[in-house]
Amino acid sequence: MNSVLSAVLWIGIYLALVLAPLAILLTGPRPPGSGFWWDLSMATGFAAVAMLGVQFVLTARFKRATAPFGIDILYYFHRTMAIIAFALVCAHYLVIRVVYPDALGTINPLMAPGYMTFGRAAFLCFTIVIVTSIWRKSLHIPYYGWRLTHVLLTTAGLIFAGIHIEGVDYYYEAPGTRPFWVAFVSFWVLLVVYVRLIKPWRMRQRPYRVMDVKAETTNTWTLAVQPEGHAGLRFHPGQFAWLTLRASPFALKEHPFSISSSAERPQRLEFTIKDRGDFTHTVSTITPGEIAWLDGPYGAFSIDRYVMAAGFVFIAGGVGIAPIMSMLRTLADRQDPRPLLLVYANNQKEGIMFEEALEALKSRLTLRVVHLLLLPPSDWQGECGLITQELLEKNLPENRQQLEYFLCGPKPMTQCTEAALHALRIPLRQVHSELFDLV
Ligand SMILES: Cc1cc2nc3c(=O)[nH]c(=O)nc-3n(C[C@H](O)[C@H](O)[C@H](O)COP(=O)(O)OP(=O)(O)OC[C@H]3O[C@@H](n4cnc5c(N)ncnc54)[C@H](O)[C@@H]3O)c2cc1C
Repeated sequence: MNSVLSAVLWIGIYLALVLAPLAILLTGPRPPGSGFWWDLSMATGFAAVAMLGVQFVLTARFKRATAPFGIDILYYFHRTMAIIAFALVCAHYLVIRVVYPDALGTINPLMAPGYMTFGRAAFLCFTIVIVTSIWRKSLHIPYYGWRLTHVLLTTAGLIFAGIHIEGVDYYYEAPGTRPFWVAFVSFWVLLVVYVRLIKPWRMRQRPYRVMDVKAETTNTWTLAVQPEGHAGLRFHPGQFAWLTLRASPFALKEHPFSISSSAERPQRLEFTIKDRGDFTHTVSTITPGEIAWLDGPYGAFSIDRYVMAAGFVFIAGGVGIAPIMSMLRTLADRQDPRPLLLVYANNQKEGIMFEEALEALKSRLTLRVVHLLLLPPSDWQGECGLITQELLEKNLPENRQQLEYFLCGPKPMTQCTEAALHALRIPLRQVHSELFDLV
């Protein structure tokens, strides 16, 4: 199925899941005496619960569902939908607070009906989830702690919201709606079981063994793994996988890394990893023979989606070279004759990775490499400074409008480069970016 059709299909499934509870509410009988504001409040509450439930599907990493969009787009969507759903939760509460204050009753859990207390508890859970997710970095919350809390609080919030809805039993008990709610809740429970138990269990059946750990620079290493007793994974160059090392696949201690080796050699997968924090700091201590697990491949950042392209321009910053190395190596293994340009930006000369490998690739590909340094040594012959429109204009070939562009590096670099390419009238649909940050 082509990717546009498949995207439309998945959007349709998303809308069906989100709108189903609302449709049941609107088409079913309503409690006598309920007016517009009451109905509006109930509708926003139901829509919010449905949207929050579907949040699990968005991050469950179903390969077919992620393929047409790319996982970064899905995470962005997940984030945006969470904010909208939370706004609906607030609207649900505020309408009742303003128009029907008596319906809220006391806040004291000892005196309030249980379902109202569960409703309040759900609201609290969702508030904490939203605040800690939007401001995680400014609040200095470590990633693991945040992720665990995120999963636990969202699950608890949804269970509490379910009990709250059941307590307002008119909506739950109205003829024909009970089977629907049972099916709806069962779906979420099965989804959680699949994501948290079945998927990690299947990963455990497919271990990989570390073959080599090689220093690329003072703070970046290439880790090579090989499938142990199974066929490994087939991937498109530029894609990434979640890597688990020195932890159980059930432990949620996995990290996404781009595959930097050739897609034509799936028997040995390489990841080029820069020391950025707790886990990546340990990569240099990993030794051959250790066991790793992979969940992948994922991502839409790949030359394989543009088979008819006249040529490719790759623009990398620092470790952003990793997925681009995979694309270059794959093109070389495929003996691809198309013209290629790599603009590779680094702060210092010592930060340049794969210098020899790139030289070797030049003899197998129609490849030109432009190195760019922000802080060049006095004897530096190459380009200096940041990526600018002038630099690109000087180095891009004549047929620049026919080429596909792949950008991977720090956010400020990709943003400036996108703006420069836009100013050079490169169509937006031909510019593809990967950011090494999902949240
Ligand atoms: C699609 C993608 C591809 C990537 N490819 C590469 C690559 O090829 N090479 C490379 O060096 N880095 C890559 N990264 C970045 C890499 O995943 C993070 O640097 C690494 O997870 C940091 O973990 P840490 O424990 O060392 O750092 P920490 O100090 O714990 O975290 C630093 C930051 O990294 C992010 N992060 C941490 N853990 C995770 C996680 N489990 N999942 C998602 N984000 C997390 C968070 O934003 C966090 O604030 C990629 C990221 C993404 C999203």
